Amino acid sequence: MAETYAVVGLGRFGSSLLESLISDGQEVLAIDNNTEMIQNYMGLATHAVIADAQDEESLRELDLASFDHVIVAIGHNQQASILATIILKDIGCKHVIAKAENNLHARVLNKVGADEVVRPEHEMAQQVANRLVSPNLLNYISLSDDYSIGEIKITNFSFINQSLADLDIRSKYGLNVIAVKAHDQLSVSPEADYVLNIGDVLTVIGTSEDVQKFDRLVS
Ligand code: ADP
Repeated sequence: MAETYAVVGLGRFGSSLLESLISDGQEVLAIDNNTEMIQNYMGLATHAVIADAQDEESLRELDLASFDHVIVAIGHNQQASILATIILKDIGCKHVIAKAENNLHARVLNKVGADEVVRPEHEMAQQVANRLVSPNLLNYISLSDDYSIGEIKITNFSFINQSLADLDIRSKYGLNVIAVKAHDQLSVSPEADYVLNIGDVLTVIGTSEDVQKFDRLVS
């Protein structure tokens, strides 16, 4: 069965999220206390209602507990975002994602029971900074506080014309190579005798420190 979504607050983040979910073919209930916002998105959302997210009765009437995911996308009005998150968890919503404006707001949202807290500007800024500082690190996924997956482009000539076995990446650099992409051809779990070429992209898994160290070495 398809998952159901409710987006509370149709500012820049909430409305972009609504548009993305709708273009992925999902059913979305949009909620905002601003009539104009609701009018703007009435044609797009599956349902759009004017309601105050700080009002427990309104949230109960909308039966938000029956939705698979509720996203609190209110940023500037931190009081409303915190109260909405508390109420949504109290009325039994399974998965509440809340958007935070800053670190303190994020800490409060975590404390009051948000299942996930996102800081879009902060996260995007980190990604842009990583891309600028490490241009060969094409993608980086943090798996936990300690472990990451990195997609790293080989541009250092001392790494080419050698096989993965020759390079001994696991014992020398502490990383496991889970895939290699060459000329848009992806090989998952490459053989040890795979010989690297300039421009190959390795997907490696290991401690975040080792992934970053390896990125600096092959660049
Ligand atoms: P962004 O930074 O993503 O643009 P904003 O905080 O500026 O986020 O916008 C949040 C949206 O949430 C606005 O459309 C605003 O009308 C709506 N909003 C603010 N307070 C409430 C509330 N108590 N109930 C419902 N919607 C709210």
